[in-house]
Amino acid sequence: MTDAPPPDFESRILDAIRRGASMEDIAGIRPSRVDTPAEAIRALKEGNSRFFGGQSLRPDLGANERRAQIMGQTPFAVVLACSDSRVPVELVFDQGFGDLFVVRVAGNVMADSALGTVEYAIRHLKVQLIMVMGHEGCGAVQSAMFPEEVIAQEPPALRALIRLIQPALVGLPDIRDRKARMREAVLNNVRHQAAALRDQDTVRRAEASGQLRVIGGFYEIGSGAVDFLTEAEDLLP
Ligand SMILES: [Zn+2]
Repeated sequence: MTDAPPPDFESRILDAIRRGASMEDIAGIRPSRVDTPAEAIRALKEGNSRFFGGQSLRPDLGANERRAQIMGQTPFAVVLACSDSRVPVELVFDQGFGDLFVVRVAGNVMADSALGTVEYAIRHLKVQLIMVMGHEGCGAVQSAMFPEEVIAQEPPALRALIRLIQPALVGLPDIRDRKARMREAVLNNVRHQAAALRDQDTVRRAEASGQLRVIGGFYEIGSGAVDFLTEAEDLLP
């Protein structure tokens, strides 16, 4: 499999280098495929379809394209995902260097540093989309369901992280099937963290202006597919 970027993009960069263009000008050349939240959602959906269908393009960078990125970045989406080693975000969405601004923290929780990172992406990188993505079999969400005496054994910072998940699990329906119950817990956590994000000024203003949308996702490790929660009612906590 070749890792070549789209030829028009590559040839535009080569042309610019031949013309002796400045690094800033070369940095300004990029594929302009995502300009709106809807296009960002489509790009993620298409990339995930390629991934779970075994058709990943695995966009890698040649030296020219990498050089074109020296001066700046223009990611089209933020993904707040779990640190779980089975959830490699760029691979799951078949995206390349410079496409996604990824925040990974156990349980994809909206901790202060995650919020600061998202705020940076909104204010300075003008991203069009934020996806909060949970996943099948999340150990962090599982931990938040343990009895209090078990959680009390954990060190303080880890306990604090678990505390950010617990409110999402209040009133979790009593589902017998363990797998179905975990899925519901993870989805509730996605909704809870998305709601916490949308409650923040920077996020709320960007959403109100139409620059940005906040959506949710559930990554199923077995199939490789991401379920997209894009409708308002999908995200109601
Ligand atoms: Zn996890």
